Amino acid sequence: MGTPAVQVAERVYRFPTVGDFVNTMAIVQNDGSVTLIDCGVKRAPAHIVKGLKAIGKHPNDVQRIVLTHSHEDHAGGAAQVVEDAGLSGVDCHVDEAQYVETGTPPPRDETLLSGRIFQRLPIGGFTATPVANRLTDGELLDDELRVHHTPGHTPGHIALVHEPSGVLVTGDAIWNMASRRTWPVSAFCSDHLLNRKTAHVLGELEYQTVAFIHGPHIDTNARETIRGFLKSKGY
Ligand SMILES: [Zn+2]
Repeated sequence: MGTPAVQVAERVYRFPTVGDFVNTMAIVQNDGSVTLIDCGVKRAPAHIVKGLKAIGKHPNDVQRIVLTHSHEDHAGGAAQVVEDAGLSGVDCHVDEAQYVETGTPPPRDETLLSGRIFQRLPIGGFTATPVANRLTDGELLDDELRVHHTPGHTPGHIALVHEPSGVLVTGDAIWNMASRRTWPVSAFCSDHLLNRKTAHVLGELEYQTVAFIHGPHIDTNARETIRGFLKSKGY
């Protein structure tokens, strides 16, 4: 068993739910309540409860759950965590809400053969989850968590910046599996070229630490690392 909670910055933690391969992010608000970002796969909620315990918190302390997008490795545990926390639903981008509410994966990129194949397979579904708040680009949650709409991976994909601590959460715009920056698998994207284009914004934001849902976080030369990756890919 790995560590249930890893501190990323002041008031910011990540809970590895399938080792570092799938993280849930946790932000402790000044009033002691917790905001979660993404809920991992269907079996992740038990790990999320352990992560909360490791930072002295309980599911009842969770006041907000934000989903970066509606793939089963991010939204798979969401319905259970909503129930554990006693919330009315999750927050997600307005263009993602229909998928979250129906437990349906967004369309695959049909410009790719692999995307067309995945589109026809009955995979990627998850438990339908109510949406409490429909988010828009530039919105600031609780006076500290900024929403950045970065469509492409899915229509309503968002990255987030926790402004007080300077932590960027990339969602699935960029992965850091095994500490290697990569694009997400193209066939899992709705529009893989649009994802590459909108990921450019991640090089322009202000942050000191970059956290990934897939892979360990980076707290040294974070922005330079992201900019270097984008530049190496011609973006
Ligand atoms: Zn994804």
